[in-house]
Amino acid sequence: MHVLIVHAHPEPESFNGALTRAAVEALGDDGHDVVVSDLYAQQFAPAAGRDDFLSCADPTRFHLQGEQAHAASSNGFSRQLREQQVHLARADLLILQFPLWWGAPPAILKGWFDRVLAYGFAYVDARRFDTGLFRGRRALISVTTGGTRARFCDGGVYGEIDKVLWPVRHLTLEYMGYDVEDPFVSYGIPRVDAPAREECLRSWRQRVVEVARKPVAPQPLLPAAALAAVGDQAWKKS
Ligand code: FAD
Repeated sequence: MHVLIVHAHPEPESFNGALTRAAVEALGDDGHDVVVSDLYAQQFAPAAGRDDFLSCADPTRFHLQGEQAHAASSNGFSRQLREQQVHLARADLLILQFPLWWGAPPAILKGWFDRVLAYGFAYVDARRFDTGLFRGRRALISVTTGGTRARFCDGGVYGEIDKVLWPVRHLTLEYMGYDVEDPFVSYGIPRVDAPAREECLRSWRQRVVEVARKPVAPQPLLPAAALAAVGDQAWKKS
């Protein structure tokens, strides 16, 4: 299986770094092909703009979805975005590895969503959820938190973790058509003791291998010619 890990943490020696290394090792040992997109190491810029594109649909007014639709149908994404999209298109399993910052992924990962998961590549009108372009593929969120498990339970002060992760899980990954696994949550990771962190890494290794062994049936993504027909007008309605 082809696996893409999108890693969003600025410190290689962080616990997030340890989780990504553990996944790479476990998946590699199990015979999978793993690519890591380390967003901080690549200095991935989170802000979308004209630099995302080699071409231009409308020089007078910048409309992000319009430019994305145009780029998708004319191979007009910047090299940085195209590289990310090529890895994503190849991946049967997408893993997002990030710490929870202000109840959400770090801005660098949100920017990756905004820029890489572009209209015409990741989604088009009338193709979402069970008809999404990425149906047949699997996704897994691995998140670390400062708050303990109790704080993320029903009645806990932060609210249930499923609600916290809803924008990533449902409004992004499931929207694209991914079959999304229940998240792997490393709760209160700066607060727990060393044996608990070791146990967390052990169960993560086991979990990623279990998930990667599940069958997938990726559908072909839209070719550029089809995008020209499907995409170029549809975004104007949004
Ligand atoms: P680190 O701090 O890097 O590591 C945690 C511990 O693991 C350290 O003791 C480290 O030495 C140890 N460790 C590292 N590598 C290994 C290894 N290989 N084996 C064993 N142990 C290891 N938390 C919330 O719950 N909700 C929020 O909304 C929230 N908002 C935040 C906003 C910001 C801007 C920031 C900076 C933090 C926020 N936090 C929040 C806390 C944050 O989620 C946690 O600090 C983060 O998830 C911890 O992960 P880390 O990888 O940074 O851990």
